[in-house]
Amino acid sequence: MLDLLFLGGTIVTADKDSNILTDGMIGVSKGEIALISEIPKNSADIPDAEEVIKLDSEIVMPGLINTHCHAADSLFRGLVENLSLEEWLQDVWKAEKTILTPETTRLGSYLGLAENLLAGVTTVLDMFWYPFETAEASMDLGMRLCTGGIFIDFPGVGNRTQEQYLIEASDFCAKFQKSSFIFPGVMPHGTYTVKPEHLQDAKKIADEYHGIFSIHAAETLFEQSDISKRYGASVIRHLDNLNILDDRSILAHCVHLDDYEKDLIKERRSTVAHNPMSNLKLGSGIAPVQSLLERHVNVTIGTDGAISGNDLDMWLSMRLAATLPKGALMKPDIVSAKEVIEMVTLNGARALGRANDLGSLEVGKKADIIVVSTNAIHAAPLFDPLTHLVYSAAKSDVKHVFIDGVQCVKNGSILTVNMEDILLEVRKLKNPILESLKQ
Ligand SMILES: [Zn+2]
Repeated sequence: MLDLLFLGGTIVTADKDSNILTDGMIGVSKGEIALISEIPKNSADIPDAEEVIKLDSEIVMPGLINTHCHAADSLFRGLVENLSLEEWLQDVWKAEKTILTPETTRLGSYLGLAENLLAGVTTVLDMFWYPFETAEASMDLGMRLCTGGIFIDFPGVGNRTQEQYLIEASDFCAKFQKSSFIFPGVMPHGTYTVKPEHLQDAKKIADEYHGIFSIHAAETLFEQSDISKRYGASVIRHLDNLNILDDRSILAHCVHLDDYEKDLIKERRSTVAHNPMSNLKLGSGIAPVQSLLERHVNVTIGTDGAISGNDLDMWLSMRLAATLPKGALMKPDIVSAKEVIEMVTLNGARALGRANDLGSLEVGKKADIIVVSTNAIHAAPLFDPLTHLVYSAAKSDVKHVFIDGVQCVKNGSILTVNMEDILLEVRKLKNPILESLKQ
């Protein structure tokens, strides 16, 4: 007897052969996918299950993996506008320093992670000031989260010292090293805000726990020239000189890379988390996604925080990832829908070292499954599910979300946390947040 059976609909497995079943079924047992096949012709051959989700024309696919986010920054959505990264960061840090405590971080994490969850994101990589609180919010929502200790050299939120950051980062990794929901790592902010010794200290902790090392890298031209002046090497060369790059490094942005840096990322088997919305809005540029794909670099997609992109929309990001390279290079035949689906599923799982149990719908993998409605006007007619998902579908089409076989979203509503209470508290912070920039 199965715990759960999805019966009907188009199954986009997102497995390495990109298999699609047009009238399929998925059986779930103990949080894992136990069977996946076409619906048998003889109805007596359909297995029994505690719960059956009957589907018609919906698309069933793996939960999306957002590989660069600052969920709690959703508290500051729309606060700082029309500035380049460097000026923008000064205002962001000012507001964060005044407003953020462990409690407000927890609140903001619920807000940002819930927005991800409603959009069909089942795993988020998050970089933020209080990782324990973000982890709490994530576990309450029933989501998977990769996060860990932040590192920054100036007195940031909470005025913590480098020693305190080190202790927090180690404690976080130790606490969650065996978790199947929280994937611990270290999250140093960037090469321009964290000095080489501190980057290496952070990497040491990641290595000790076999965790992820994620950092903002090569986001702007200014950053590239600043780091080159300071260290005599551009950002990616600098990270490599410090022996930091490997297959557990996730480099957020990589908008400005020369060919040597692209080759280096490939050689070290590191991941590039592409954040097209944030890069466009902050005027940072357009990442060289096509030349990274040509080199077979593992490219994933992130939303970045809602303070730069104003929402956390992986569907918009997918569409931008598919269309920006076509427009920038005037080549309509590059970056296929299949490649973009891979970026938000299997490539994300690979980046997190979880390709064995996440990122595609296959027997033995975790039942992180989303159901996308195809009833909307913008879904008719529907010739090709992959093209539809990348170019026509929207976050509001996500109907159900299951993580580890547990339903977290039903008919577009979150089941796990009462978001009305959270929203009430978030709205109370509006005036203090506005005031925070005037200080
Ligand atoms: Zn970021």
